[in-house]
Amino acid sequence: MRKKFLFGKEWFFEETAKLGESQSFAWGVIPEKTVFSGKTPYQRIEIFDTADFGRMLVLDGLIQLCTKYEYVYHEMLVHPALFYHPRPRKVLIIGGGDGGAVREAVKHPLEEIILVDIDKQVIDISKKYLPTVSAGAFRDPRVKVYSEDAVNFIERYPGYFDVIINDSTDEYGPSHPLWSVRFYKRISAALRRRGIAGFQTAYFREGFAQKARKEIKGLFSFFKVHRAYIGCFPFDECTFSFASQAVDLARVSRKTLRERYTKAGIQTRYYSPEVHSASGVIPGKVS
Ligand code: SAM
Repeated sequence: MRKKFLFGKEWFFEETAKLGESQSFAWGVIPEKTVFSGKTPYQRIEIFDTADFGRMLVLDGLIQLCTKYEYVYHEMLVHPALFYHPRPRKVLIIGGGDGGAVREAVKHPLEEIILVDIDKQVIDISKKYLPTVSAGAFRDPRVKVYSEDAVNFIERYPGYFDVIINDSTDEYGPSHPLWSVRFYKRISAALRRRGIAGFQTAYFREGFAQKARKEIKGLFSFFKVHRAYIGCFPFDECTFSFASQAVDLARVSRKTLRERYTKAGIQTRYYSPEVHSASGVIPGKVS
């Protein structure tokens, strides 16, 4: 929502009440220039420039990314999942229409990367107005893109993927069914035996995210939460949850992660095998 506020300027305030969380705080930023504003059959899209966060992508009033800090989010969503797996070949990205997760995935020696986002317009608009996010990754011949609802799409791939990364929006609008035990079961069924699932599971403190982490943990044999602070999500640290039916994530040592990282020969700005290990240490009872 836009409202005239401090410094005589118009501000953008995130519509967090939509998620059923507290209505006693909000965070705002001054949009210096609106780059795109429109509505698709699935959601409202806004893109604007800010002085401190770079360009921001907003869907249905909720911030999805800012170009200054998105690398932290995308590296921490994608690389832990791919390095928990001994030799990933086939990867599915659910949502992720901005292209940041694909950009990180194509760095790995994978054979096939499928992205399924319900809204083709998020992909097209992101390619046009947020080119640094996908950074050409959609042109990689290993990448196949489908514009479909992931709920049904995933059923066509029983036991197919080594890694599935859920980069969907938070629990509202078209992604609502993705935050359900029914869908987590479909993810488990679409994985190969030693497959790894990775989920963006929002802030520690959010009720819907706590419920999701509990449900995912209950469904998979092995589960681990990682955390990172991302500049445009200022209320709390963000959580990334990883799960597997056969790989004991806690037993993948830092040495193994370092060997896999070195072998893959990839460049990262935030992620490292050491950050991977450290980000999985969770204080107290916050998870
Ligand atoms: N980083 C983000 C965040 O903070 O929540 C998520 C990034 S990405 C933009 C989320 C994508 O999920 C959107 O492009 C949206 O269209 C897609 N999405 C939502 N519901 C979906 C569904 N049912 N099937 C496939 N994609 C879906």
